Amino acid sequence: MLKVRRDLCLGCGLCAQTCPTGAIYLSWDHAEIDQSRCNQCRLCLDFCPQGAIMELIPASRDELQATVSSLKEKTSDLIERIESLKKRSQ
Ligand code: SF4
Ligand code: SF4
Repeated sequence: MLKVRRDLCLGCGLCAQTCPTGAIYLSWDHAEIDQSRCNQCRLCLDFCPQGAIMELIPASRDELQATVSSLKEKTSDLIERIESLKKRSQ
């Protein structure tokens, strides 16, 4: 599913002009996507000069937990390496 980041969107309307299904409209100077009309062609992703359109990829709870565990391990490893380098330089 595609979403518009309102903090990045300038309301230029380029995405709305590009969308082949008319799924994008401007509301309060920001683009919005009507999900019922979006066919996931992803054209708007390439045309937005701000990179304001992003794709949300659903992840399961297990996938999220695995990612968090992996990040924790990498962080611990980095901290250990930094501590080791600090000791060597003393
Ligand atoms: S092209 Fe990008 S910046 Fe312009 S209205 Fe669409 S989402 Fe906003
Ligand atoms: S993915 Fe395609 S159909 Fe959907 S909003 Fe973007 S340009 Fe329109």
